Amino acid sequence: MEVFNEVTAAPMITPSDVMEYCFCPRFVYFMHCLKIPQHEQRRYKVILGREMHQRRLVRNRAYLRKKIGCVAKQEDVYLASERLKVRGRVDEVLTLKDGSLAPLDYKYAEYKDYIFKTLRIQTLLYAGLIRETYSRPVQQGFICFIRSSNKLVRVPVSADDLAETWKIVDQVFEIIYRDFFPKKTRSRRKCSDCTYKNICV
Ligand code: SF4
Repeated sequence: MEVFNEVTAAPMITPSDVMEYCFCPRFVYFMHCLKIPQHEQRRYKVILGREMHQRRLVRNRAYLRKKIGCVAKQEDVYLASERLKVRGRVDEVLTLKDGSLAPLDYKYAEYKDYIFKTLRIQTLLYAGLIRETYSRPVQQGFICFIRSSNKLVRVPVSADDLAETWKIVDQVFEIIYRDFFPKKTRSRRKCSDCTYKNICV
């Protein structure tokens, strides 16, 4: 997996890289330092196809956005910042009544009464990229959980949240640049289903 922006050659990672780091820091080492890809492409494509279909259906439902005071939206927005060293594509950038902006991402998943750290960090990354790109306030982000009747969950965005998020981005680059081999995750449950379990000692 390449960390350099193809156009400018600036080092950049994606929200997926950061989410994988949050799941287990060793993912970054295996993917970026040892260049060992995950072997889940086929399964991923099946899931992605199903997700895309569901997303198309849900995204046409304007009432979802109306409920949160959305007055305009842009779809499939590519965002990149050399300064923040992150690039990615967010499902929607919403303009809210108060003039602030917010990312909205659709997940083909159920809402379990809390937001996983990985999803929260992804939303914060998009929020930071939107703020940087548009120079407008971003005080929140939203995740739509398709398998929970399109439940829309708000993720607050504060300056402290963004600072915490970009510390994590720095930690990802620390592994990539220094070839740093991080500790294993403490969750053995994650290891039992991990694509790297046979090489991770
Ligand atoms: S086996 Fe466990 S520690 Fe190793 S990469 Fe997978 S989740 Fe992380």
